[in-house]
Amino acid sequence: MSVEQTYQQLEAWAKETALLGSIAGVLGWDQRVMMPPKASPHRANQLALLSGLIHQRATDPQIGEWLNELEQSDLVKDPESVPAVNIRQWRREYDRLTKLPTELVMEFTRTTSLAEKAWEEARAKSDFALFKPHLQKIVQLVREIAERFGYETEPYDALLDEYEQGMTAKQVEALFAPLRQHTPDLVARLQSAPKKPDTSILHRHFPREAQEKFCRLIAEAFGFDWQSGRLDPTVHPFATRLGPGDVRITTRYYEDFLSPALFGTAHELGHALYEMGLPQEHWGTPMGESASLGIHESQSRMWENFVGRSRAFWEYFYPIAQQHFTALQDVALDDFVFAINAVQPSTIRVEADEVTYNLHIILRFELELALMRGELEVDDLPSAWNERFEKYMGFRPPSDAEGVLQDVHWSGGMIGYFPTYTLGNLYAAQFYEQAERDLGDLSALFRKGEFRPLLEWLVQNIHQQGKRYTANQLAERVTGKPLSAESLLNYFQRKFPALYGI
Ligand code: ZN
Repeated sequence: MSVEQTYQQLEAWAKETALLGSIAGVLGWDQRVMMPPKASPHRANQLALLSGLIHQRATDPQIGEWLNELEQSDLVKDPESVPAVNIRQWRREYDRLTKLPTELVMEFTRTTSLAEKAWEEARAKSDFALFKPHLQKIVQLVREIAERFGYETEPYDALLDEYEQGMTAKQVEALFAPLRQHTPDLVARLQSAPKKPDTSILHRHFPREAQEKFCRLIAEAFGFDWQSGRLDPTVHPFATRLGPGDVRITTRYYEDFLSPALFGTAHELGHALYEMGLPQEHWGTPMGESASLGIHESQSRMWENFVGRSRAFWEYFYPIAQQHFTALQDVALDDFVFAINAVQPSTIRVEADEVTYNLHIILRFELELALMRGELEVDDLPSAWNERFEKYMGFRPPSDAEGVLQDVHWSGGMIGYFPTYTLGNLYAAQFYEQAERDLGDLSALFRKGEFRPLLEWLVQNIHQQGKRYTANQLAERVTGKPLSAESLLNYFQRKFPALYGI
């Protein structure tokens, strides 16, 4: 058999595995959006069967043999070619899945599923002691997993690599340091400004139907293709691609708070547009997948914050919003823009503003890293959380429920995930700056309701690249420099003091 034939065989195998995955995707979407509660046990059986089949296919020893052959061939000569990209990533996935012994995987699954239940109860009662033994077990297991995966410098690198390929703890520390250094000062300056935003205008009455109509207009303006996607209501918003021509997003509507639907939709739209912009012809292979979680988040943050919270966006959309919502008819544009950009230290990460959000992430990253480096014990985690929180935000969380227990991630064993949120903000800022260099003043376009040029730029420079480059490489190729905190800090300095009139 020729090398080309081997490649085609592996590709066909991978695409069929991806088909099974996309069937699980449909079931998962249905479970979160449509399914009646009593269907849960049956759905769990369906999904368990599929995930078993997928795992079996993905770890078939035949894949290892195919890869051995392909890695010796000319197909990998040019590392940027489609076959080379796919072969490289298939190897990575195969190794990751086969490096862990089945018992370890099963123990991890068992531990995290118990931990999630314990965490729910611990959070409801604000009692860390209920969650503590589970988290101790999780830390021990992820350490073992990191050892099995292997790393160059420290165990945390192996965990991070799962979510942000090629990124290391040292790099993230260096990227976050300027943010940690400058953000608290900026927040303090904004807090002491005499001018204060009136956020109560966002808590007036906003009928659900009007919100949905308005969100659909935003989706259309951004370039969401209704022939290839849907927008539905859920409790926890998300975006998912079920296959070529099928991207689903969800959002939630509160009649007494306008922001969650507006900015939640804009955020998920960013994820969806990325999925829609991936090279469809490579669907089911790494070349047709997103570069990393951080890059994915850069797309959602770009549309949510850089576009959706900009004055220019609202210069175009505010008159339309006023037609939809009588509650805004006596509110001036400037007051509205100020309200949606209010900066206020708060306890809950998912409700945080654009500026303080990164402090929430830096805090979690530092604690995770200390746990993995053995510099912090799970026992001392709540007090370490509170101390650090006070240092960054200026006050202590009133309870562990609003502190160390607020996020689901650790209970699911996802240590190394949090940094991707702030990495997303850093990538977004650097990409946005480059887009303005290439396209000219984006605000001038937004004021006229023109968002397509930005989307086309993103499709061409980022989406169409699939997994050809690591996130680091992609950032450097697109913007001509390695990722840094500079663009994001400059953007904050340009935007927020002006809003606060200082
Ligand atoms: Zn997101």
